[in-house]
Amino acid sequence: MKFRRFTQISILILFACVVAFAGVRSNKRNRAQDKSKEQSIGGSLSANGVGKLSDAVKTAPGADVKVVPHAEFEEAASRNAQLQTSLEWSFGSKPQRGWSLYVPLIGNLIGSDANGAAGSFAARLSLWQKENGIEPTGVLDGATWSRMVSTFQFRRLNSRASTTPSQLITIPISDCYDPTRAEELRKVEPETFVAYRRMVAAAIADQSLGVQRASNGQLASGEQYFKIISAFRSREYQDQLRRQSPSSGRAGLAINSPHATGRALDLYVGGEPVNTKDENRAIQTGTPVYRWLVTNAGRFGFRPYFYEPWHWEYVGVGSDEATRKQGDGTK
Ligand SMILES: [Zn+2]
Repeated sequence: MKFRRFTQISILILFACVVAFAGVRSNKRNRAQDKSKEQSIGGSLSANGVGKLSDAVKTAPGADVKVVPHAEFEEAASRNAQLQTSLEWSFGSKPQRGWSLYVPLIGNLIGSDANGAAGSFAARLSLWQKENGIEPTGVLDGATWSRMVSTFQFRRLNSRASTTPSQLITIPISDCYDPTRAEELRKVEPETFVAYRRMVAAAIADQSLGVQRASNGQLASGEQYFKIISAFRSREYQDQLRRQSPSSGRAGLAINSPHATGRALDLYVGGEPVNTKDENRAIQTGTPVYRWLVTNAGRFGFRPYFYEPWHWEYVGVGSDEATRKQGDGTK
């Protein structure tokens, strides 16, 4: 009898344990579901609550990301589709919206030629985020964009030391966008000009661009693309420009301009030559010539200024990561 009673109690205890364990499991599952509900609510707020988005998509610290099918990034892709036109950020105290203008540069950085709302773009982005110690969400939110801007800026000319006019050469008028540009405004640092000519020769050779070639192999006189709008600008000339157009369409003429080095070139890439209005930059960043530059300029030692599609700086050809990523393709 005693033994039977003991068995009954044991069975009851065992049953109670099983029930309790199942309860814990189901609570856990509910919590996980609630969490994912919060996440989708956070996602739907992205148009007016960018700040909340980055919290909502947080994953566990140290979470490992493997190369996963793009389908797993569908939600990230739909957030990117919104953020590329709605993300609020500022640059030089000017409010900015979205990152769609920078998709060619971003694609080059992360190794994707897909559009900003594609699942494959989000998947590649998550790998870049991981490499850069950012949570690999595949969502191009404020924190990720800020890191990208720093990366673009870091790759530019690191010396702003002025060049003296005796170190400069004169650009032939046939390479200038304005066929009446005065000689004193056609100065450039010699290595920069040699690299420019090599780059233009490669662009002319790429028949998919349709760049018109003159009989001497240079740019045809009727061709505007790739022509030099501006190169060396002395500090005095820069000051004068700033006084003349304090509220020009440009983001503001830099006080410590890289043009004073003679190694910065403004090249014609479409639209109004040097106007930072979003509509204009949208035209410029959509031209095959701009896209060619994004992919190929690094091979010739040129780096972009992300904000001005026309502005390129000669940093020389090195073996660093950026140059390697530019690859050796001809597109
Ligand atoms: Zn410039």
